[in-house]
Amino acid sequence: MAQESGKKGIYKMTPEEAAAAANEFKQLPHLAADFFPFTPAGFGTVTGLTFFCTACEGPMPPEYVRLRHNQFPDNVNEIRAIGVCKDCRCLTRFMFRFREDGHMESLVGHQWRRFKLNEKPSGWKRVLRWLLPFGAAP
Ligand SMILES: [Zn+2]
Repeated sequence: MAQESGKKGIYKMTPEEAAAAANEFKQLPHLAADFFPFTPAGFGTVTGLTFFCTACEGPMPPEYVRLRHNQFPDNVNEIRAIGVCKDCRCLTRFMFRFREDGHMESLVGHQWRRFKLNEKPSGWKRVLRWLLPFGAAP
């Protein structure tokens, strides 16, 4: 099955990646719908994140996203999530790191991206719209 569904996708997992992600999905401890609010150092309260399917770019309801939160030294908070698209059934992986200086990173394709967020809720949506899966580690 190729990458077209009438809409322009930016990334779609291979069948192998999708099988691994489906397996991992069940092991992620939190449903995104239940996890927030989240207060990473340097960011104040994050009341939610908007996840977008990277295959069809549609929004994923938080009931369809599971995640794991890890706290690392130096107040680095990491969220790894996998979402299932209600519309096209594709899986998308997400990874975010929040640093106490207010920078946020995500792994985009094969490279890290680093963002400075503004504090407004609308800024969240704009930034998160860019997030892509971390199919391969750098
Ligand atoms: Zn989709």
